Amino acid sequence: MSVDLVTIPEEADAGNIEAMLSCLNPVWAQVNPHRAWQVHAECDRENCVTKSVAWNTLVEQGKVVPDSGRVR
Ligand SMILES: [Zn+2]
Repeated sequence: MSVDLVTIPEEADAGNIEAMLSCLNPVWAQVNPHRAWQVHAECDRENCVTKSVAWNTLVEQGKVVPDSGRVR
């Protein structure tokens, strides 16, 4: 099972980028968990709602295994 590695998407505009960089954007994180995880890679999951939701979404989708402690 592969995970697409993406950076800033082509359709990003200033508003989208601002939303993506927000640590309080669980809705976007749920829709785009891969991107959210990567954009917030430097964040602490305990302090970043976006990263936390992205992680939970990836786990629910079976994209990551929590025991591994990392995203493939
Ligand atoms: Zn964050």
